[in-house]
Amino acid sequence: MTSSINTFAATLPQSTFLPDSSEYQGASKYWTDTVFLKPGAVFIPNSAEELAKGLEQLVEHQISFSIKGGGHNANRGWASNSDGGVVISTSNLKGLELIETGSEGGTVLRTNIGITLTEIYDFLEEKGTTIAAGNQATPGLGGLLLGGGLSPYWNRFGFAANTIVSFQVVTADSKILDVTAKSHPDLFWALKGGICNFGIVTRLDLKTFARQNIWAGAHIFAPTSFGAAFDALDSFTTEEGNSPHVGVMLMSPAKGMVMASLFYDGPHDSDEPPPVFRHFNALPMVNSTFKKSSWPGVVKFSFMVAPYGFRRYVSTSTIYKDTKLLQRLFELYQSSAQEHLSDIEGGEFHIFANVMTVAAFEKNRDGPWAIDNLKEDIVGMMQWSTWKHAKDDERVMRWTEMISDEMKRVAEAEGKSHKYLYINNANETQDAFASWEPRNMDQMREISKKYDPNAVFQKLRSGGPKLWS
Ligand SMILES: Cc1cc2nc3c(=O)[nH]c(=O)nc-3n(C[C@H](O)[C@H](O)[C@H](O)COP(=O)(O)OP(=O)(O)OC[C@H]3O[C@@H](n4cnc5c(N)ncnc54)[C@H](O)[C@@H]3O)c2cc1C
Repeated sequence: MTSSINTFAATLPQSTFLPDSSEYQGASKYWTDTVFLKPGAVFIPNSAEELAKGLEQLVEHQISFSIKGGGHNANRGWASNSDGGVVISTSNLKGLELIETGSEGGTVLRTNIGITLTEIYDFLEEKGTTIAAGNQATPGLGGLLLGGGLSPYWNRFGFAANTIVSFQVVTADSKILDVTAKSHPDLFWALKGGICNFGIVTRLDLKTFARQNIWAGAHIFAPTSFGAAFDALDSFTTEEGNSPHVGVMLMSPAKGMVMASLFYDGPHDSDEPPPVFRHFNALPMVNSTFKKSSWPGVVKFSFMVAPYGFRRYVSTSTIYKDTKLLQRLFELYQSSAQEHLSDIEGGEFHIFANVMTVAAFEKNRDGPWAIDNLKEDIVGMMQWSTWKHAKDDERVMRWTEMISDEMKRVAEAEGKSHKYLYINNANETQDAFASWEPRNMDQMREISKKYDPNAVFQKLRSGGPKLWS
């Protein structure tokens, strides 16, 4: 393999970096210290054309490769590669442009895939528009949107990928395709959830929309309000759960503690918090960071809650909405973390929950992650373990999987477990594709075989979920 890597590096010397270079060290930076696997080289193309040429060489020499976007996925090796392979990093694919859409009205944001969310929100702020994507600064657009993308505008659009107007993608035969709903309807549909199975996305056109008054932040409730916060979530969902202006996530960072992360974008010309959150605003709190904001302000907050430099593992599960059960699961999770992992240095064990109403999920009917015949609201949960030392890796990861299984058993016993797994939050033992509708998975496999008949993205691409083998 080393001689193949050297041949590859000699073909594209200006953008291929071997382990002794500073560029290689720079590209080794991932959000989670557990995921980097020491590839033979890192390829950092400066254009889609250069990327296509590199992919052609990798295929010709049968060199295994992986694709790194923002490097935020917590699964080991999903965006990295073991000895001998090449990591293709999209970090140098920069460039942003706002394009008038003429007769259809409005604008689209044309963004190369290496652009960060901070760069996007700063760029759009002065123009009074925004896009649907994440509310943290550092995850990559690639991984986030190609898995669907949860955004605070979930009630308005469903998955953020529903706002993609066009993909530019380098396919297995090294062609650069502009993929729209009209030009390649099958590939356009599949790319909205297929992550790294159909090609390497180099550019996106995203629908923009006007932003209004933005409020964001978190209410951190007093321990005495623990149960009341779940009741507030219940009342809020019943009364306001489909409002296009809100995004709410309940989160527990430790035993007895719960906070509500709140987002609002809508009409509200006042210095008082938007009344739509009245059920949460009324509870006793130890602190609140919820305030008038802007998109650049919203994403700056993320540096405080999700810093680099730790080891991490995530897990996901879904239940039908039952806030009493949700409270029990949060308590179970935190009690178990305290019982089993209180001696872990740097240990932090967070659990998050997002309610997804039937009406909002209906907006996903045209994507590969659609759920057929959803009759009740569901709650997507994520368990997020953080720790400091490699010696604790196996212990924390196995506990994270164990507690997820236990939570699932509790939900099943109540008849409230739902099989759906959000792919961007699933860990390497969780087969999110298997939780999707079989008819959609059959279609995904067919499309993969049409655009990638030699299975480059199933066999030569390492890391990340696969559709077939
Ligand atoms: C701090 C933090 C905040 C988050 N916030 C949100 C959120 O608000 N909403 C949400 O939905 N999720 C969120 N996530 C989850 C996030 O969507 C996933 O972790 C996602 O996989 C990260 O994408 P990435 O490009 O940064 O990661 P990477 O690890 O680089 O990539 C993830 C996967 O996508 C593939 N990929 C990346 N770019 C491309 C490309 N251009 N073409 C083809 N394949 C590609 C990679 O090969 C890999 O398999 C968050 C995660 C973290 C750590």
